[in-house]
Amino acid sequence: MELDKNPISAWLQEDDTDRLETLWHAADRVRRENVGDAVHLRGLIEFSNHCQRNCFYCGLRSANKKIRRYRMDLDEIVHCACQAKDLGYGTVVLQSGEDPGCSDHWVASLVRTIKEQTGLAVTLSLGERGRDAFLLWRDAGADRYLMRFETSNAGLYARLHPGAPGLEERFRQLLWLRELGYEVGSGVLVGLPGSTHMDLANDILMFAELDLDMIGIGPWIKHESTPLGRGELQDNTDHKRVAASETMTYKMMALARLACPRSNIPSTTALATINAENGCEHGLRRGANVLMPNMTPAVHRADYEIYPAKACFLESSEQRFRIENIGRYVGTGRGDSPNRDARIATGETL
Ligand code: SAH
Repeated sequence: MELDKNPISAWLQEDDTDRLETLWHAADRVRRENVGDAVHLRGLIEFSNHCQRNCFYCGLRSANKKIRRYRMDLDEIVHCACQAKDLGYGTVVLQSGEDPGCSDHWVASLVRTIKEQTGLAVTLSLGERGRDAFLLWRDAGADRYLMRFETSNAGLYARLHPGAPGLEERFRQLLWLRELGYEVGSGVLVGLPGSTHMDLANDILMFAELDLDMIGIGPWIKHESTPLGRGELQDNTDHKRVAASETMTYKMMALARLACPRSNIPSTTALATINAENGCEHGLRRGANVLMPNMTPAVHRADYEIYPAKACFLESSEQRFRIENIGRYVGTGRGDSPNRDARIATGETL
């Protein structure tokens, strides 16, 4: 399939269900041929919900005084990582708000301890921290980093992230991660107020340009304690606005798979939140090959409220059955990005 801008935006506007079936099939075939039938499980530990940012969509924003803030200590986090290992996962994902209370050195010792005690692949998702921190954490053993660019529309990005460095800085940080040898993940929100089909088409092209190892795509979910949730964004493009819908999310996942055949693509929690019954399976059949079961201790889970009524994949035999039920199997090992392996083989990285 040609991947210049027009066909992508045409697919994004397609609503004929038969035609969309061909897109789902193409994405599923490309997924199978490039990353196989394994579904890799990543244990997600949301270790702090403190955040210095004020992103217009996110419930963790510092101006939201309605959430109870928490920060897990090192032992508690390492304990969760050990549980992930016991469950047979190959990776833990350590995620937080942008929390200056977690110093660079503290994070480095956390990574080092988890590597020593579990040997698992460690993915970090802590927001923008700068090159020195990324280097320190890489030296401590961190393998991967997730940082979505959220939208490729620089004007919209600036409006949604008041007081933050702009989109260019986000891309600069992603480049540093790549230079330092991390597997690099990014992604976007689907249906942000003010975004258009052309913006989403550009997002897909940007995934390919960044040659991402991991791509996280989820629908924007309204959170009442945020400016977007209160409808506060001045939006003069409303007539062209993209729906934050389930189908639009699948279209973006399928197109991401076609644009980046060897990337690891999760069927996201946000998708499972808007369709608890089978959003997860649909995602896996329309391009995705990764799930992120939630390992955050129950006492903190509800407080990591990026958006309301967040679904959680919890470890259970039922979840594993859901994977097998669609003809797939749970992956073993670290589930590294075949994309990065190929870059290393051709000497394009490090
Ligand atoms: N602080 C880290 C991790 C942020 S939370 C960082 O900045 O990278 C992880 C992701 O949750 C964000 O990248 C964003 O895409 C998503 N998110 C935030 N608010 C959301 C909302 N209201 N609906 C859906 N997804 C949201």
